[in-house]
Amino acid sequence: MPYVVTQSCCSDASCVYACPVNCIHPTPDEPDFLSAEMLYVDPKACVDCGACASACPVDAIVSSKKLTREQQPFIEINANFFRQSRPRPLLARPVPAARIRTGRQPLRVAIVGSGPSAMYAADELLTQPNVAVTVLDRLPRPYGLARFGVAPDHEKTRKVGTLFDVISAQPGFGSYLNVEVGRDISHGELLDSFHAVIYAVGASTDRKLGIAGESMPGTVSATDFVAWYNGHPDHAADEFDLSQPQALIVGNGNVALDVARILTVDPAVLAATDIAPHALKALRESKIEEVVLLGRRGAAESAFTVPEFVGLLGAEVDIVVDGEIPDDDSGLSYQVAQKLELLRSTRTRPVGGRKRIVLRYLTSPLEIRGTDRVTGVQVGRNELAADAEGVPRAVPTGATEVLETGLVLTSVGYRGVALPGLPFDEKAGVIPNSGGGVLTEAGGEVLPGVYVTGWIKRGPTGFIGTNKSCAQETVRRLAEDYNAGRLSEPGGDAADFDRLIRSRRPAAVAGGAAVKPGRLRRLLAKS
Ligand code: SF4
Repeated sequence: MPYVVTQSCCSDASCVYACPVNCIHPTPDEPDFLSAEMLYVDPKACVDCGACASACPVDAIVSSKKLTREQQPFIEINANFFRQSRPRPLLARPVPAARIRTGRQPLRVAIVGSGPSAMYAADELLTQPNVAVTVLDRLPRPYGLARFGVAPDHEKTRKVGTLFDVISAQPGFGSYLNVEVGRDISHGELLDSFHAVIYAVGASTDRKLGIAGESMPGTVSATDFVAWYNGHPDHAADEFDLSQPQALIVGNGNVALDVARILTVDPAVLAATDIAPHALKALRESKIEEVVLLGRRGAAESAFTVPEFVGLLGAEVDIVVDGEIPDDDSGLSYQVAQKLELLRSTRTRPVGGRKRIVLRYLTSPLEIRGTDRVTGVQVGRNELAADAEGVPRAVPTGATEVLETGLVLTSVGYRGVALPGLPFDEKAGVIPNSGGGVLTEAGGEVLPGVYVTGWIKRGPTGFIGTNKSCAQETVRRLAEDYNAGRLSEPGGDAADFDRLIRSRRPAAVAGGAAVKPGRLRRLLAKS
């Protein structure tokens, strides 16, 4: 019986390299890796050795003999991936790892941010001898979205924090938390203190709807709500009005699904997780009975991923699809066909009088209604029309109605934010770069010693583990520059930098993810 990749797959691809028979795909050097929603085990090639399960940082790979009832769909999902015709690898061989020339003083690199892209960059650098990494984060606790963005009931995905604990316990790793670059220390000072600076700050703001009433009390971003229930220090005092029977979420991606699930599952389920106590208390008192998710386009264009929807189907909530689900999958991609099949399965899924999630399609918000706070949303009905490239686009029909609600959560994507002293591409919402090396502007000159990785480099796409190959590319670029003598020597050593930080920010927390020796031994044994 083969092993099976399940819901919490992070696309880190550690399993790919652990597999002795190369039966996990797509691999990072295959063209469909970046667009894949998860990795898949070929059941015909798997020899049942279990090496991938040991390598996976989030316990996503399970023997098919041990799958839970909710995980059973993943047997077919894995097998179906290998029934489609797939693009052939573009590369004749995998891209080689970065090689940093030794013999000079330690290469010292500052990494701004401590989320997944930062930690994978640190790990890649620390595979090389004579390298020291210093991570800086404005928050007092590390790991960014891996800590504050993953739903508390996605316990397996949260296990990636254990991998980051192992990375941060390596020799050469140091950190200063509670330090904000741009406030406590400038970009120029950082660049003077290190050979190179890598920005791994993510995409820290939300895209706006751009409609009237958007700033009215009762309209909040779904990411703020996620940060609130995950105990983010910036959002601990936030309050949300959960006294209404209906909440409305604009968007139907994975974040929207997370928020809808948290609002509707039994709080007793959440009590067994790491959810913030203030959020659990509020959810216990919540009067919300129904959460409606609005999608501009149709069911085939749903933004959520297949594994996330399989997880939702396993939750104790009623799920209703308000819109047509096409019955003909011909001509559709493997992923879209899989998504439609899962949506069709809701037709026969028992409805048990529980709180419910409604997936409403072909509907756009036009105006947030209310006087001093939200009372409803005027929405417009759409139809689909293919554009010049054949991509289905939402076209208003002119029909409108008002949906009553006291809570509107917006979840239409993230956007990067400009940083003091660094160029920024306003159109793309990223720092302009070539392979991770920062440019003066899109298509401009190289800025020596400055690099980016993660969402601020490529935009808000991919999963936690996608940042691994992204960071590897950036570190390769940095290593080439260092080996070629293009990086300036730092103006001081680690002790000088420590004095500078402590003078500017006495509340800085040095060391970051301190791991006790006993725990480290256990972590290393697992990793
Ligand atoms: Fe590969 Fe072994 Fe995992 Fe099967 S069980 S996918 S052969 S590593």
